[in-house]
Amino acid sequence: MKERIIRQKIAKSPNGNYVLYWMQQAQRIHYNPALDYALAEAQRMKLGLIICFVINDEIPEANIRHYRFMIEALPEIALGLASKNIPFHILLGKPHDLIPKLGQKARLLVLDHGYLRWQKALRNEVFSSKLLSDTEIVELDSEATVPVHLASDKEEYSAATLRRKIVSKLPDWLVYPDPVHYDVPTQDLDLQGIPHYPYDLQDLDALWDWVRTELKLQPSPGSISSMTGGYNQAQEQLSFFIQNKLQGYAQYRSHPDKDYASELSPYLHFGQISALEIIHKIFDAWQVPVEALPHLITSKKQQMGKSLNLADYAEELIVRRELSMNFCDHNPNYDSVLCLPTWARKTLNDHLLDEREEQYSLDRLEQGETNDIYWNAAQRQMLSTGKMQGYMRMYWGKRLLSWCPSVDEAFEILLYLNNKYEIDGRDANAYAGVAWCFGKHDRPWGTRPIFGMVRYMNAAGLKRKFDMNAYIAKVDAQTR
Ligand SMILES: Cc1cc2nc3c(=O)[nH]c(=O)nc-3n(C[C@H](O)[C@H](O)[C@H](O)COP(=O)(O)OP(=O)(O)OC[C@H]3O[C@@H](n4cnc5c(N)ncnc54)[C@H](O)[C@@H]3O)c2cc1C
Repeated sequence: MKERIIRQKIAKSPNGNYVLYWMQQAQRIHYNPALDYALAEAQRMKLGLIICFVINDEIPEANIRHYRFMIEALPEIALGLASKNIPFHILLGKPHDLIPKLGQKARLLVLDHGYLRWQKALRNEVFSSKLLSDTEIVELDSEATVPVHLASDKEEYSAATLRRKIVSKLPDWLVYPDPVHYDVPTQDLDLQGIPHYPYDLQDLDALWDWVRTELKLQPSPGSISSMTGGYNQAQEQLSFFIQNKLQGYAQYRSHPDKDYASELSPYLHFGQISALEIIHKIFDAWQVPVEALPHLITSKKQQMGKSLNLADYAEELIVRRELSMNFCDHNPNYDSVLCLPTWARKTLNDHLLDEREEQYSLDRLEQGETNDIYWNAAQRQMLSTGKMQGYMRMYWGKRLLSWCPSVDEAFEILLYLNNKYEIDGRDANAYAGVAWCFGKHDRPWGTRPIFGMVRYMNAAGLKRKFDMNAYIAKVDAQTR
């Protein structure tokens, strides 16, 4: 676990009498290296562990559908921690105010790492808080299979360049976590003057009413009833995927009309399940030793059947996902066209004056009222279900570029729509996915109007490869 430490601040004269873990990115108990580190240190120092979760009303772009999915995970976390006699508190306010107040009496404060600017800013404030001069602070990467800071020390150009680095290090990071022994007496926390949820933590309805009222959440866009947050739901989703879809993943995952993807991205986004646990469960279920994984990824082209499905899934879950983390961690411009490679920016600029076939207001785009029935279906799917099919996300992003007079505007609109409506939005994958539509992590292709040398996708390609009428019928059924 120590190797996962990204940064650490030593205390001047440590004298606190508990260990505090501020749970933020890794919203789970199982396979949570930050929690395991906090537990092991608490046990070593014979100090009680206390865990706090902060409901923060300043999370950029979060709305009722995101809060609802996040809150759904909390009662089962509370239940799991209660069974280990670990106090769990839900606080309300700004983490950089609340955590230092509670951390000043802690010997050790543990943080999980966040890859986005707002997450880093909160942690920086905590690290520099004067209140914490006598508290040791440790920040660990809890989400990447190979911790981002160890996988690479720079922004990677493409999946190919990161893949090489990840694969060489993977064998050290595929180990099953050891259970951490913890039997220290429970430690109380003085919450006087700290806004916190005062009722039964396992009562989801009461918790949700409290959050909605305190944060004054607007009812639109509505929460999603077809998807429920939490570790147990993620496990059900994973079991269903392993039993019913994984065997067709390589062949069908891109097909918009079929359902062969895992649908786990919302759970991964909120840290409700770990990628490593997914890998272990899949390899165990298919009775393949997990040690085979690095070889499967590098020799994907020679794989068939079962091995190809495993290799393809691991490529997405580990290489692609961790490329997004690498991107956001290293590139401060991850949410603007400035993040694009020089060749992509140049070629898009060279084609700025190319004629756009149509232009739409943001309102018409948002309602899915363009002259492209596939784009509209994808947009409607995202609005109603909170999750657009993966291949359609690529088409949706590329197509919008052909309607916008400027590349900046297209980039901005895509991020706005993606982050407002996707439950898994506001993720490192969201920024990498949108940037990919404009050439990030890709190479130059043949020149086209508007796109220049940026990879192009069109409706004819969709129709040729997939049963698009079936996709539209599926979305109609989902949005009825
Ligand atoms: C324009 C655009 C926007 C996107 N927005 C988001 C977003 O907001 N949030 C998000 O999580 N993903 C986003 N993606 C990436 C990808 O489309 C989704 O991760 C995937 O569709 C999620 O569905 P799943 O869990 O069923 O995927 P599966 O196919 O089951 O994949 C398993 C996991 O691998 C990871 N993964 C899969 N595809 C990619 C990819 N292309 N890049 C990085 N990681 C990947 C995800 O964590 C996913 O949960 C976007 C892609 C594009 C092109």
